Amino acid sequence: LWDQCVKQLKGELTSAEFNTWILPLQARVDGRLMRLLAPNRFVLDWTQKHYERRLLDLCAEFSEGAIAQIVFEVGGLDKEAPIIPGYSRFETPPPAPDLDERRSSANLNADFTFDTFVEGKSNQIARAASMQIAQNPGTAYNPLFVYGGVGLGKTHLMHALGNVILASNPNARVVYLHSERFVAEMIKALQHNRIEEFKKTYRSVNALLIDDVQFFAGKERSQEEFFHTFNALFESRQQIVLSSDRFPKEVVGLEERLKSRFGWGLTVSIDPPDLETSVAILHCKASQLGVELPEDVAFFVGKRIRSNIRELEGALRRLVANSQFTGKPITMEFAKHALKDVLAAQDKQVSIENIQKTVAEYFKLRTSDLLSAKRSRSLARPRQIAMALSKELTKHSLPEIGNAFGGRDHTTVLHATRKIKSLRESDAAVEEDYKNLLRILNS
Ligand code: ADP
Ligand code: MG
Repeated sequence: LWDQCVKQLKGELTSAEFNTWILPLQARVDGRLMRLLAPNRFVLDWTQKHYERRLLDLCAEFSEGAIAQIVFEVGGLDKEAPIIPGYSRFETPPPAPDLDERRSSANLNADFTFDTFVEGKSNQIARAASMQIAQNPGTAYNPLFVYGGVGLGKTHLMHALGNVILASNPNARVVYLHSERFVAEMIKALQHNRIEEFKKTYRSVNALLIDDVQFFAGKERSQEEFFHTFNALFESRQQIVLSSDRFPKEVVGLEERLKSRFGWGLTVSIDPPDLETSVAILHCKASQLGVELPEDVAFFVGKRIRSNIRELEGALRRLVANSQFTGKPITMEFAKHALKDVLAAQDKQVSIENIQKTVAEYFKLRTSDLLSAKRSRSLARPRQIAMALSKELTKHSLPEIGNAFGGRDHTTVLHATRKIKSLRESDAAVEEDYKNLLRILNS
């Protein structure tokens, strides 16, 4: 059977290809399985990558369907037999792809490293865990699950650990992917009948880094596919790293079995930076831009922009650009002026906590009552108003708002917003309360 395959391939391939890749192989039939023995890893990888499909077709054809699977192994039929050198017939084996190439096929950004990641209380544990994983992929913790609000450094850490794994092992295969991209790739594979290839790609990596898994919510087919990918990698002890904007159990719309697996390894959070860390990050980014930031300006910006590190960076870039454009040095006066709009917008952002506090005061209640499970009418209506205001005035999602109201479900928030909308049309008192609250919150 193998001889037939070999003969056939001899006609199909160039003699260099044939001599290099097919001739060194030996074969053994094992039931419905054909074992192909390659003299070394290099020949194995190459033949598997380029000829597996054709070989399988040929085997199936010549065996009239009796052979249904091929496995590739390194070895020979006779242990003592000299190994036929496969690729030494080339002057030199094809060069291994260099780090840049491997990085780009892994979707990794070279700028996101541990060196450029400033450590602070808020990210200390997440950083330490990521470094551990980078040094011991697959064996330290699996999976690593990093969660925290937007712009706090989750993506940066994932890239940093991926970069270390790639650089320290020339054979390591790493893939970083946003969960939405995973979904898109899967759909593309389904459309083009390439789902098997898709599965194989993701199940054969040494480290799979999936960012923002909350976007898997509600996408059942993707979750199913990811579930199997997860299991395959987990069982073969390959590293999985996941991130999300919240704790795994709190990701709404995610299957239970995924949530529970996400918690199997180590779960760490990244919190908003404290003032000192913000200032350190500003200095670090400034020096990357080749600019020296005066201490008072760094503290001023760090104190005023509390929301996240992405916005902190945005403010810094604005300062630097303005200073280069006008030729003026970055002083306090300059910073206050250049960041006027940014800071005004920052101050205007209403937070859910602020809304809760304002609504509670307005109705002469305690904030804790609004968050409690109590359902009396005197509490339920103000609570619904506060939820509706949160939806209208902040950028938070329904699940986030539900969370902020004592861990309520997003459907409760949705119901509240609809209820208040219809009441505002039918009940003048509700309309007046709502308008008053809007005015207070927007002033
Ligand atoms: P997330 O994925 O949590 O939304 P990112 O990782 O995209 O956040 O971080 C947003 C920006 O802030 C990036 O440019 C990143 O380099 C920067 N950043 C976040 N944390 C740090 C840190 N500790 N030190 C330096 N830069 C940071
Ligand atoms: Mg991110």
